[in-house]
Amino acid sequence: MTLSLSRTDLFREQAVIGGSWRDAASGATETVVDPATGAAIGSVPKMGADETTQAIDAAAAAFPGWAATSAKERAVILKRWADLMVAHADDLARIMTAEQGKPVPEARGEVLYGASFIEWFAEEGRRVYGDTIPSPWGDRRIVAIKQPIGVTAAITPWNFPNAMLARKAGPALAAGCTMVAKPAGQTPYSMLAMAVLAEEAGLPPGVLNIVTGDARAIGGVMTASPIVQKISFTGSTEVGRVLMRQSADTIKKLSLELGGNAPFIVFDDPDLDKAVEGAMVAKFRNNGQTCVCANRIYVQAGVYDAFAEKLVAAVKKLKVGNGFDAGVTLGPLIDEKAVAKVREHLDDAVAKGATVLTGGNSLGGNFIAPAVVADVTPEMIVSREETFGPLAPLIRFSTEDEAIRLANDTEFGLASYFYSRDIGRVWRVGEKLEYGIVGINTGLISTAEAPFGGVKQSGLGARARNTASRTIWRSSISAWDCD
Ligand code: ADP
Repeated sequence: MTLSLSRTDLFREQAVIGGSWRDAASGATETVVDPATGAAIGSVPKMGADETTQAIDAAAAAFPGWAATSAKERAVILKRWADLMVAHADDLARIMTAEQGKPVPEARGEVLYGASFIEWFAEEGRRVYGDTIPSPWGDRRIVAIKQPIGVTAAITPWNFPNAMLARKAGPALAAGCTMVAKPAGQTPYSMLAMAVLAEEAGLPPGVLNIVTGDARAIGGVMTASPIVQKISFTGSTEVGRVLMRQSADTIKKLSLELGGNAPFIVFDDPDLDKAVEGAMVAKFRNNGQTCVCANRIYVQAGVYDAFAEKLVAAVKKLKVGNGFDAGVTLGPLIDEKAVAKVREHLDDAVAKGATVLTGGNSLGGNFIAPAVVADVTPEMIVSREETFGPLAPLIRFSTEDEAIRLANDTEFGLASYFYSRDIGRVWRVGEKLEYGIVGINTGLISTAEAPFGGVKQSGLGARARNTASRTIWRSSISAWDCD
């Protein structure tokens, strides 16, 4: 596949360690495919333990110099990096669409969103205040200072190939830490392109190293290394558990942003058109492949039929296709496994009595028609597991207590949403939902300024922070890779 880019050098098929762009020592490579066509886009080095060790050493060598720069000097470089991402948003978006599948305008949106994290943390890095603590002794003073903890490691997923690195590297580098990052095997090029721009922005060699290849080998070295002080991971709860276990021996600090099973509750009093709008964003953004995607849609009995009808009408307007084609709103799913999972959830629901209101049929390859399914019950797989695809299951409920009980009946606790105009209910339900993030009368819940993270088995590293406006966001990743 030939990607048409204004800057072809942003498409890199090598990893970067200590400032040098490299192949794997063995010469081995991994092919990366376009999920829309199955065609090879190119390859990246299949690196393993040795290269990861070298990258950690490079990050360790770069650390003292980077930590010694002033917060302002770091901020200038990071701000320049963010500006370069914005300036090259079109190319970065095309690279992302090729490897991830999301439509180009959505990919462009992610690039800007990613840049906003780098910019935000560049600014926040200048405000890492310590504390002066009143001393119980007249002749001694107590001062708590903040220092970068050292070499950090990041492992990112394929659903946000740009923004997940931005959200991890932004705070770590702003705080004065260095980093070794590993992209998902499906989507390495977005991260490599960001590294090209980081270099151009003036990031010194070794501050941000990228290793592609064997996830287990790379993760194994990252977790076992006594040099790596902190790991930030976004991905499945299953892999999160493995990394946490592996990190025990070195008592590594961890930020984990893991799976979700987001409830989206529609009470019988809101503006239904707005609720449908919110549900469309929360459910179908990135073709249902985000960890905060609405997974279970609970609708109060009085508005169930009306909501279902409006949702089906909205879903029928979605246009599925190759993300490079104009007007496409849903691209392919990432791979065959993802398609099979949606199919499994759908078939199980139908076998147990659910009704397909629209979609669900295969459109060939990794494409599937977005589906709305009614009469879903808690026994169905779709109510219990994250579907990670364009399937909207509707579950009828009668009372507020029932909705809360059903919504909280999961080991996950990342994002939740509800629509209501009753101010008493807004506060009651907002506080009773056991989720790190509660979106009230909105389907969009993420921005650089707000905390983001989960409770229960959805993650670690959350910091309590209550912000109440139209959205209550109750926790965050520990933004600072800095103790
Ligand atoms: P998903 O189901 O979204 O692919 P994963 O948790 O499998 O989520 O993958 C998220 C990231 O974790 C990817 O970068 C992947 O390569 C990486 N990964 C998967 N298994 C391991 C492992 N055993 N050790 C380290 N990283 C891993």
